[in-house]
Amino acid sequence: MIRKLKSPAKSQWNEIFVRPVIEENLKDGITQILMEVRKNGDEALIKYTERFDGVRLDDLRVGEKEIREAGALVPADLKKAILQAIGNISRYHSAQLPESMSVETMPGIKAYQVFRPIDKVGLYIPGGTAPLLSTLMMLGIPAKIAECPEIIVCTPPDSSGNIHPAILFIAAELGIRNIFKVGGAQAIAAMAYGTRTIPGVYKIFGPGNSFVTQAKELVQLDGVSIDMPAGPSELLVYADKSAHPDFIASDLLSQAEHGPDSQVILVTDDEDMLERTDQAIRKQLEDLPRKQIAVQALENSCLIHEPDLEKAFELINAYAPEHLILACKDPRDKVSLVSNAGSIFLGSWSAEAIGDYAAGPNHTLPTNHHARAYSGVSVQTFMKRISVQEVTAEGLLHIGQTVETLAASEELVGHQRAVSIRRAYLEKR
Ligand SMILES: [Zn+2]
Repeated sequence: MIRKLKSPAKSQWNEIFVRPVIEENLKDGITQILMEVRKNGDEALIKYTERFDGVRLDDLRVGEKEIREAGALVPADLKKAILQAIGNISRYHSAQLPESMSVETMPGIKAYQVFRPIDKVGLYIPGGTAPLLSTLMMLGIPAKIAECPEIIVCTPPDSSGNIHPAILFIAAELGIRNIFKVGGAQAIAAMAYGTRTIPGVYKIFGPGNSFVTQAKELVQLDGVSIDMPAGPSELLVYADKSAHPDFIASDLLSQAEHGPDSQVILVTDDEDMLERTDQAIRKQLEDLPRKQIAVQALENSCLIHEPDLEKAFELINAYAPEHLILACKDPRDKVSLVSNAGSIFLGSWSAEAIGDYAAGPNHTLPTNHHARAYSGVSVQTFMKRISVQEVTAEGLLHIGQTVETLAASEELVGHQRAVSIRRAYLEKR
């Protein structure tokens, strides 16, 4: 079921990494939805919600009363778990707030940077069979810590027109009041263009199915930013003989159950570990409720035996996994070998699922090789950095000639003059 490979040659790597392409041609349909929401606003949202979510809504906005009453519908143990996760995620992200810096690049030339929150952000929280409570925490908390003034949440309603009470409980805990019952591409359109009920935003965050992902790609053409290119989840475990096959199998299956297009990979220097992990996967699969999904994901996955440490990490860095578990001796020392990964989990106790929910760091991470160039969501993803520069008369005299020479070499006389006029003024004084 899951492929086994022995020390694959570099020329084979791309083939190993191939992701299942479950790409229907959705673009025309999505463009249609975007256009219609842009033109007809709420009316289009109500129409699409009836079509896709099976419920006719009078009001897209979640009322204050619904939010207030949601708390009573959430079981005490779930509330406690949510509050503990919020605590850890808040602690980690608060520490991420950028520090200011200031530099005098030359006498009389001062430069520094200031950070500002993005004024309006939209968070998309998928609903359906498994409402992603954790995603609301992972996006809402950094947005709050960045102090974004306007935070909008869109999430699809169930067929009775309700939002999962735990979603509303989390929103209330975070002080998020603008929650709207709309999902899919129509929700992305609403946040991108704004409707009478739903305010438009400058940046849209959050995972989703291929409709949502493609809609996010498309609204970028209209000047709306998005968090990052999204794709199906992936995990790579690097294990040596000190690891536990049962643990590795459970980690691989935890990501395989996300979706049939998920991908999980084991790289180990120990052949016996590979075989025992394979057996453990088979055993744990038997009674996994999402077995059907996991089995499909395993078809695109593999177990790799690679005795050469250097080659193993070359392969890991080429893959650039969203999640990387180092289940080996002295895992902290191995971090220096990693150049591309979304998030790294050290040692046998650091189950990736802990990071998905509650350790503290963000779970919104780059997939599909994007960890080569992208980072996961952080407080700074909700902020902009603005540079500030101040030149005194002394500074102008120091740098003037350099700028004039550079401007002249680009044949931009207007630029040159902006300096020469000032220099002449100072020299006349
Ligand atoms: Zn996961």
